Amino acid sequence: ALTLSELDPDVATAVRAELHRQQSTLEMIASENFAPAAVLEAQGSVLTNKYAEGYPGRRYYGGCAHVDVVERLAVDRVKELFGAEAANVQPHSGAQANAAAMFALLRPGDTILGLDLAHGGHLTHGMRLNYSGTLYDVVPYHVRESDLRVDMEEVERLALAHRPKMIVAGWSAHPRQLDFAAFRRIADAVGAYLLVDMAHFAGLVAAGLHPNPVPYADVVTTTTHKTLGGPRGGVILSRATLAKKIDSAVFPGQQGGPLQHVIAAKAVAFKVAAGEEFRERQQRTLHGARILAGRLLADDVAEAGITVLTGGTEVHLVLVDLRHSALDGRQAEDRLHRLGITVNRNAVPFDPRPPMVSSGLRIGTPALATRGFGATEFREVADIIAEALKGERPDDELRARVDKLAAAFPLYPDGAPA
Ligand code: PLP
Repeated sequence: ALTLSELDPDVATAVRAELHRQQSTLEMIASENFAPAAVLEAQGSVLTNKYAEGYPGRRYYGGCAHVDVVERLAVDRVKELFGAEAANVQPHSGAQANAAAMFALLRPGDTILGLDLAHGGHLTHGMRLNYSGTLYDVVPYHVRESDLRVDMEEVERLALAHRPKMIVAGWSAHPRQLDFAAFRRIADAVGAYLLVDMAHFAGLVAAGLHPNPVPYADVVTTTTHKTLGGPRGGVILSRATLAKKIDSAVFPGQQGGPLQHVIAAKAVAFKVAAGEEFRERQQRTLHGARILAGRLLADDVAEAGITVLTGGTEVHLVLVDLRHSALDGRQAEDRLHRLGITVNRNAVPFDPRPPMVSSGLRIGTPALATRGFGATEFREVADIIAEALKGERPDDELRARVDKLAAAFPLYPDGAPA
C-alpha cells in the first residue's frame, strides 16, 4: 500500500503546505476551528468505504452493524448535549441541514422570514441566488440602524403582514445574542414554525455560555465545524413530533448515502464538547472576543475612523466597522494577511461600499482559543490588529509579533495528521 506522498506527491505537497499555513499563521476566521486529531482520525477511517442509506436498524444496505453503532452514538450524544428530543446527524453540511429542514416543513412558494444577508444572515436564510430564495417567498428582516441589533419590532410587523410559514433566526455575521423567546412569541402569533440556525454559536450553547434555542424552536440546525470544533458537517435537532418528517426530508428527500466517517467524527466531537476542557475553551473564546472588541474601541483606533459594530460582542466574534475609515474591508483583510493573521472582510449593515470590497472585517476567536490562547495572548493579538489597522507600525515588526505567538502555541504538536 502506497502512502499519500508516494501515490500522489502533488496532493500530498499541497496538504503539507496547508498544515504549515495553519501552524505558522493566526487563524481568526470566525467560522473556522481546529478539529482534534482524534476527530481527523475518525474522519479518515475505513468508514468512508461504507454505504448506509437509511437510518440505524433500517438500512437499505447490508453490513451496517458497526456504522449503526457509530450513528446511534452521534445521535444520542448530540441530543444529550443540547437537550433535544430528536436529532438527525446525516446532513453533509450546514446548508444541507437547512435545506432538509425547510424541505420537511415547507412547500415551494411558502413564505419565510430570514435575516437579510447584508445584515448578517446566511445564504440559506433566503438569499436570492440560493435554493432558499428560489423555492420560497422570502421576506427579509434587518438590524436597526440606530444600534445595529436585530429589529424585533420589524420581525413582528413583517410576520403579522406576511403570515410566514417559517421564521428563521440565526446569523453568520452578528455579534449579539438573539431573543429566542421573542421569536417564539411572534412565531406563535402567526402560526409559523421557528427554525433557529445556531451554526455559529453552537459551541457556546453546548458549553452553557449562550442561551439554548432548543426549548424555543421547532427545529434547530447547526454546523459541527465552527465553535463546535468538529468535522465539517451539519445536524438537525427537532421536537420528537417532527422527527419523522425531518428524517425523510434528509433521506431520501435531499441526500443519498450518509458520510459515516464524518458521522463518526461528529460523535467524537460531541463527546469532546460535553467535557470540562471544552467549556473552559469556550470561556477563553468569549473572553478573547471581548478583549479584541475592547482594544478596537480604544481612542487611538477610533481616531482612525474605525469602530466595532454594536459597540462590543456577546459571542465569539467581533465585527469591525470601517465605514468611516480610509481603509476598506479588502485592504484591511490584505493587511492582516500580510502579517499572518487570517480574517475575512464582510459587508456591514448599511454598507456604502460594494460587497466585493465592503466596509467590515469579521474576526473570530474560536480557533486561537483551541490553540490554547488565553487573556494574555488575546491582548497581544488584539494590539497587533489595532496597530495594523491604524497603519502606523511597519509590517516587519508586527509580523515578528505574530510569528512569536504562533511559535509559542504549536498546532498538532503530537504529530501532524498530514
Ligand atoms: N448557517 C449559518 C448560520 C452559517 O454561518 C453557515 C456557514 O457559513 C451555514 C449555515 C452553512 O454551513 P456549510 O458551510 O457547512 O454549508
